[in-house]
Amino acid sequence: PLVLGIETSCDETGVGIVRGEELLVDAIASSVDEHARFGGVVPEVASRAHLEAMVPTLERACTQAGVRLADLDAISVTSGPGLAGALMVGVAAAKSLAVALGVPLYGVNHLASHVAVDIVEHGPLPEPTLALLVSGGHSSLLLVPDVTHDVQSLGSSIDDAAGEAFDKVARVLGLPFPGGPHIDRAAREGDSVAIDFPRGLTSGRDMERHRFDFSFSGLKTAVARWVEARERSGEPVPVGDVAASFQEAVVDVLTRKAVLACRENGVEHLQIGGGVAANSRLRAMAQERCDAAGISLRVPRPGLCTDNGAMVAALGAQMVLKGRAPSELSLPADSSMPVTAVQA
Ligand code: ATP
Ligand code: MG
Ligand code: FE
Repeated sequence: PLVLGIETSCDETGVGIVRGEELLVDAIASSVDEHARFGGVVPEVASRAHLEAMVPTLERACTQAGVRLADLDAISVTSGPGLAGALMVGVAAAKSLAVALGVPLYGVNHLASHVAVDIVEHGPLPEPTLALLVSGGHSSLLLVPDVTHDVQSLGSSIDDAAGEAFDKVARVLGLPFPGGPHIDRAAREGDSVAIDFPRGLTSGRDMERHRFDFSFSGLKTAVARWVEARERSGEPVPVGDVAASFQEAVVDVLTRKAVLACRENGVEHLQIGGGVAANSRLRAMAQERCDAAGISLRVPRPGLCTDNGAMVAALGAQMVLKGRAPSELSLPADSSMPVTAVQA
């Protein structure tokens, strides 16, 4: 099936087109530069930018893929979670297209799409797969029986998401927003064992009670305190060392718990998705630890880890291929859609 997917949950207007498990085009317009000076995404600004970018991005996707709208077999769209006003623009566009073309509409979960995009990169997802979803708003370990069925959450962050921690630490270090890629880059010049930052929920009672949960807020505070102390003493802040040591702490916990979750659930396949999956140290450490544990690892190329339309099209195509019923045309934009629900 030829499926067009629309993503507008945050600051990226994404339109992707797939044919079955083959990616034809991934067109993106981002309003990230408009948010940078505020140090975070401003919802009203994001909604307006989606409104302006939607039609041009749709046109660009179709032109680049050599696809006419009339050729499409289905439309899929992110129905949640995300910013309400931003989601609404994508959902309205998707409904209009589905009605005008007389094709089925699938309202899908943004987070499940971060997992499903791996199918257009590496082929069908082994069943079951364990997914480590690490993004700007979420950090979860998910048991995915089949990407079109509701997933089971084994654990998630009890405070900040992994991406949020990267962005906040970047701010402390005076690096631009969004901070993840800047920390990644700065860390390459630094020493990852220079500073021993805390690994939350990894030992004792905490680990017993929160085996597959994460906590990054204590780590973020520890970094901020360390930097403040340095500044007070008048010594220069070794940005590379702080970035590398912070990143090492996050990645150590994520990969340790992901491998443990695979082992304890008898799952031999780990998939990592979401914006933080673009992190070079996470990709390297996950590969090392999966190799050692006999687990096969799949991570999409960095450009497909952050928000895009291809991921939504990829999940939509799976819904069609697996014979799932379409969503109602009245489907809502659900800003707080739970991570476990695949379809609206
Ligand atoms: P969610 O998917 O939870 O709704 P989101 O869609 O805003 O949140 P994504 O686009 O999936 O988030 O990911 C963005 C996050 O990924 C940001 O926090 C960003 O800093 C982080 N990120 C992107 N690249 C890297 C990198 N190389 N290293 C670490 N973090 C990164
Ligand atoms: Mg973004
Ligand atoms: Fe996302």
